[in-house]
Amino acid sequence: MRYAIISDVHSNLEAFKVVLFELERESPDQIIFLGDIIGYGPDPNECIKEIREVADMALVGNHDHAAIGRTDIAYFNPYARDAIEWTMEQLTNGEKAYLSELPLTGEFTSDDIFLVHATPKRPQDWNYIFTLEDVLENFEYFNQRVCFIGHSHVPVIIAMDNSGRIDILKDEATIGKDYRYIINVGSVGQPRDGNPDASYAIYDTEDSIVKIKRVSYNYHKTQEKMKRAGLPYYLIERLARGH
Ligand code: ZN
Repeated sequence: MRYAIISDVHSNLEAFKVVLFELERESPDQIIFLGDIIGYGPDPNECIKEIREVADMALVGNHDHAAIGRTDIAYFNPYARDAIEWTMEQLTNGEKAYLSELPLTGEFTSDDIFLVHATPKRPQDWNYIFTLEDVLENFEYFNQRVCFIGHSHVPVIIAMDNSGRIDILKDEATIGKDYRYIINVGSVGQPRDGNPDASYAIYDTEDSIVKIKRVSYNYHKTQEKMKRAGLPYYLIERLARGH
């Protein structure tokens, strides 16, 4: 089985279209979306439409929850809050209903895969996995071999062996029998690892290889649309930095 795992599209249709074009070439058996369709970018409606068409499984993210009033935006930074308030005005009732039905977690039992937007420990709290302590703790909250996450917009492959030793890998790993993994697939629509290219992952369970892929897109076009929509300058210029 070949899985494509994407996350954090954030209303960036240009980045999303380029990733979908790549996926057509890759022709995975399953397309999984890990949440945050909307927030930050200028095309919430179009991105929701695309996700509904292409995703075999879609989870909810904190921005999706915020847009339907389930997460208190007082905890968002001012730029994210402005973007969510703008997004709320764009969404139809049908789109809000769709977002409200998305689950917090998912799994593919036959391939030993667990899926969540933020953390396995408490998905609904939208915490981040930053420290070694966070990593070790979160491995205790799922039983499967591989857990895919998003949320931080920084792609990384974290491997833990049977003795609890942690290895950090950058963009490719052979999934070994003596290891378990937390894999952050990065962000399609707002990468934050210093590389502006859209990020996603391909996991082939037949040859046991997971790869983080990057693809460039015309972020100038997204930036122009954001200016026209009156979205915060900080959110516009960070797309060019990938940070
Ligand atoms: Zn996000």
